[in-house]
Amino acid sequence: MKKALFALVLILALSAAVLLAPRAGTPAAPVSGPAVLLVNAAHPLPEDFTPGELVNLYEQKRHFLLASSGIQLERETFEAANRMFLQAENEDMNGFIVTSGYRSRERQAELYAQAEGNTAQLPGCSEHETGLAFDVTARYDHGTFEDTPQFTWLSAHCWEYGFILRYPKGKEAVTGIDYEPWHYRYVGEAAARIIREQGWTLEEYCAQAAQGI
Ligand SMILES: [Zn+2]
Repeated sequence: MKKALFALVLILALSAAVLLAPRAGTPAAPVSGPAVLLVNAAHPLPEDFTPGELVNLYEQKRHFLLASSGIQLERETFEAANRMFLQAENEDMNGFIVTSGYRSRERQAELYAQAEGNTAQLPGCSEHETGLAFDVTARYDHGTFEDTPQFTWLSAHCWEYGFILRYPKGKEAVTGIDYEPWHYRYVGEAAARIIREQGWTLEEYCAQAAQGI
């Protein structure tokens, strides 16, 4: 029964992804669509990629804090994040601070040039260029977001709102990125639920989805 349900959810998610996928300039991802877009070193965004409608978070009614006034996210991602942080607030879990959202390719190139060691993605290869990902910390985080109750809450609930912890511990070989407890990626509720249930990364989800087509 559970397997059948999973198959149904996957089929529905894939149908939606196929229907919604852009026909031209599609990035080299096995499953594409507004939310389920694989971006990594092997799947860079096309040069002419443009994100969906971006909103400046500072100008929105928000249930979270901001590290600066210029942070933007794609609208659906912001709305899902806001619902998530409202629920956190309702459970007395406050003090989330969004520190980073959308970055232009030019901004990513600057960061890459400034970064020491292996800490920044090549321009075109950062999820931040999609507007679908944000970095977060907590007000009383002393450099270890992972040790905060906010992190525990987010880990338990983010998938309910369509988000995944994009670079989990122990999956470094799959994602190619060191564990990042602060980086969350919007993929939509259906994909987030499957990724959570299966213990997959987005890379694994997209590989499975491609096989299933
Ligand atoms: Zn990030």
